[in-house]
Amino acid sequence: MSQVIKGKPVADKISEELVLEIEALKEKVIQPKLTIVRVGARPDDLAYEKGALGRCKKVGVETEVKELPEDITQDDFIKELQNLNEDKAVNGILIFRPLPEQLDESVIKYVIAPEKDIDCLSPVNVGKMTEGDKTGFPPCTPTAVMEILKFYGVELQGKDCAIIGASMVVGKPTAILLLNENATISVCHIFTKDSAKVARQAEVVVVGVGVPRLVKENWIAEGAIVIDVGINVDNEGNLCGDVDFDGVKDKVSMITPVPGGVGSVTTSILAKHVVKACKQQNNL
Ligand code: NAD
Repeated sequence: MSQVIKGKPVADKISEELVLEIEALKEKVIQPKLTIVRVGARPDDLAYEKGALGRCKKVGVETEVKELPEDITQDDFIKELQNLNEDKAVNGILIFRPLPEQLDESVIKYVIAPEKDIDCLSPVNVGKMTEGDKTGFPPCTPTAVMEILKFYGVELQGKDCAIIGASMVVGKPTAILLLNENATISVCHIFTKDSAKVARQAEVVVVGVGVPRLVKENWIAEGAIVIDVGINVDNEGNLCGDVDFDGVKDKVSMITPVPGGVGSVTTSILAKHVVKACKQQNNL
């Protein structure tokens, strides 16, 4: 029988733990704070920002949004970022991406202070994640995938896992985090000859491609666990994932819904990372 594994119970558990941690910090007169850096006002960014601010408020993380003009120069952007790096009241910095063309991410990723980089833009955090160094900050979405698997008791050691999609925000880091748990990983991308074949051989399939309902019933092995990271709007204007949920749901043992799956856990991880950064910065 297949189980629809929702994000809410996972997010709620993380939030409950955070509330207690933040209360303990407040007793020490320490207030965790997140600053979101948003250039312009893309609807996707605004939607995520709303969720992030709501979650932070709920658990007691202070927030600030630094809205910068769409045409800000690279020098001015770097100055703003350096100010945040130096501001002792700010524990975590989240920069919405993609940045406009005039801003060079390959330079900016070396400017953000690694200890405040709670969504893994800095190569320092990419390196720590790859080494399995728990003092770093892996990106929030792949961490949400891992938290869901852990919450629902999925044993990963020795499991055959297929990751469909290989971006730096979803697929690649998910592959590394699963590898760190001793799973066996296959990663597919747009140039993979037969992603369906690779997926069919896996016990756990994580999908993050940005193509509505790409993964069909014939991609999935009987009893597999499917984690759908995709968030898309289909031709009818409905929110849907990268997996054909209705087509595969009776074949799998577990599947995340969209909406209500990975996306609902991501902002809890963001808040969790801010608290972790705050504690580290206060030597706690
Ligand atoms: P992206 O466009 O940066 O990367 C897509 C990846 O999928 C690439 O590696 C590409 O090669 C691969 N791909 C595309 N078509 C493919 C195909 N037909 N077969 C195999 N591989 C294919 O996208 P992204 O930023 O990684 O986002 C992926 C999805 O995850 C989107 O739907 C996005 O909205 C969603 N997302 C969700 C969250 C969340 O919190 N739940 C966060 C970030 C992204």
